[in-house]
This record gives sequence, structure tokens and C-alpha cells, in this order.
Amino acid sequence: MPDAQLNHTVATLTDGSEVRIPWWRIDSGHDGETLLVIAAQHGNEVQGCEVIRRFKELCESELVAGEVRLVPFANLPAVRHRRSHINLGPEQPYGDHEGHNMNRGWPGDADGNDTERVTHALHEGIVRDCTRALDLHSWSRFTATCTLARDEGLSREMALVSGIRFINWRSLGATGTSVSTIGTLFNDSGRGSITIELAPQWVIRQKEVALGLRAATNLAKLAGMIEGEVEQIDGPYVEFGRDSEADAARKHPLHAPCSGLFVEAGLETSDHVTEGLCIGHIIRDDNLETVEVISPADGWLYQFGCYRPDCDVALPPQHPYASEGDALAFVMEE
Ligand SMILES: [Zn+2]
Repeated sequence: MPDAQLNHTVATLTDGSEVRIPWWRIDSGHDGETLLVIAAQHGNEVQGCEVIRRFKELCESELVAGEVRLVPFANLPAVRHRRSHINLGPEQPYGDHEGHNMNRGWPGDADGNDTERVTHALHEGIVRDCTRALDLHSWSRFTATCTLARDEGLSREMALVSGIRFINWRSLGATGTSVSTIGTLFNDSGRGSITIELAPQWVIRQKEVALGLRAATNLAKLAGMIEGEVEQIDGPYVEFGRDSEADAARKHPLHAPCSGLFVEAGLETSDHVTEGLCIGHIIRDDNLETVEVISPADGWLYQFGCYRPDCDVALPPQHPYASEGDALAFVMEE
């Protein structure tokens, strides 16, 4: 059985110091695809790191063809900084990246800022020779775990074995631009790649890690690198992104009927709900009455909870106090 080999990719930073990014390579010794699994391009999105640790153990006993390259801490400086990008301070949103959003900077730049230099080193040392990619991210706890993929060819096939309830089909990336995601980089060169957002950021949850591990394993099975049947999701995939009008007809928003404190009824994003189910209640802030919040349709919770922009970097936007009319959920039909 193949052992994982520990490697380091070294980037020289603008001050002349070096950062060493550790990663594993597992070579089956047989021909096949080279599968990249990469996590923590954003330093606060860490569920994929544990997915990769477990996938490494599995590959050491199960890999029969090709090679896997496993990068649990892609943006190690941002992980050490405990934020999505190395330039961010307290409560600063992702959008204040000033060129330090690794996810938008592939294939990097050896003479660029420190993030671009790390990206360049990863690309040259690990990514450029890979034929397929699984890029693991996380978004806020208020949006469901979701696969993001182009609706074409190999990437489409890969998304449909991800075993993740929601699939957001993305349109073709803008061509002719010099910056891109790993997905764009792969798709534009005829290679398959999907992204999975394992919600939420900041934490590692066994349930999401298990989903990520199943997705990685299924992708390896699809590529003939691990033997056995793909383990599919229970029930249907809930797909959107192809046709905004059709999506709108299946996507049922639920707004706060009054202001007050929204109390979730023990549900989480991705849970199935039925029309008429009480998904929580509001404690009114004027007369202290309890007002039930009722699901408007049968479907799955794509968004759930009271939140505001930048809830992924700051606490007040996560506060459960709702103003009248705030969105509290989106229920997505099959
Ligand atoms: Zn991310």
C-alpha cells in the first residue's frame, strides 16, 4: 500500500523570509489521474483541513491508480493569522482583500504581494500538474453546505457525485482576465474541478467533515483511483443556477412578520422541512408575544437564521434580533 510522502513548497516573501507549506503526495505507482484536494485558501475556513487528514489515511490503504496531492493548509499564513486573508483586521470583510484573496489570484505571481507569492509557489510546486481538483471552502452557518461547479463536462459529472444536497451551477468564468479561481484555471484548460462550501467557517464539525470525506472519496472512485461504488446522497440533489426564473419559482423566502428575537426551532441549513412546519418563533420586542414562523413550502433549508452582511467576520451581524421584513429562511424545492 502506498505511503503518504510529506513535502514542503517554499515561497519567498517580500521581506526575504520563507514560508514552507506542508503537503502530502500519495502515488499509487500506477497510471491514472492526479487529484488535488486543497483546503484553507481562506484561513478561517478550516473544515476541509480535517477532511484532507482523513482522506490521506483512506488513500494510504485504498489508492489503486494515479496520484493524490493533498494540501490541508493552502494559505498557511492566513491560518496562522486566524482570518480569511493575511491583511485583514477585526471585523474586516472578505471584500477588503487589497489583492490578498488567494481564491481570486490563481496562478499567483512570484513577484507579487505575499499572498500572490504563496499562490505562485503552490501552483508551480503542486497544482499545475494536477488533472482534477476538489477545492474545499466554508461559508457562514446561515447558508447550506453546497457544491459550486460549472454545468459542463467533467465538472458536471464530478458535482453529481459530490453527495452534497445543494449544487449551485456556475456560468462560465469571464475569459481574458488575468486573475481566477482554481476552478476557472482547471475548467479553462479542460480539467475537472469543483468547489464545496462546507458550512460554517471558524469551526470543524464531524457531520460536515464526513460529507467532505465522502465527496473526496467519490471523486477518487469516479476517476478510477479507488475501487467501489460511489456512495450517493439520500434523496435528490437540489440544483440551481441554470435558470434564474425557474429558480425563483422554487425558492421560497420567509420574512420576519414583526421585529423581535428570532428563536430557531432546532433546525439547521440543509434540513428538510414541510409546508406548515414551525421553523422557529419571534419574541416580539413591543408586547412580548410569541409569533410562530411557518415554512411556506416543502423543501430544504438553503438559508436559515437571522443574519446580516459580514456575518462571517463579525458578531453583531449574527445577532438573532430581527427587524420586520428581514429574511429568516429560504426554502428550496427540489
Ligand atoms: Zn473560501
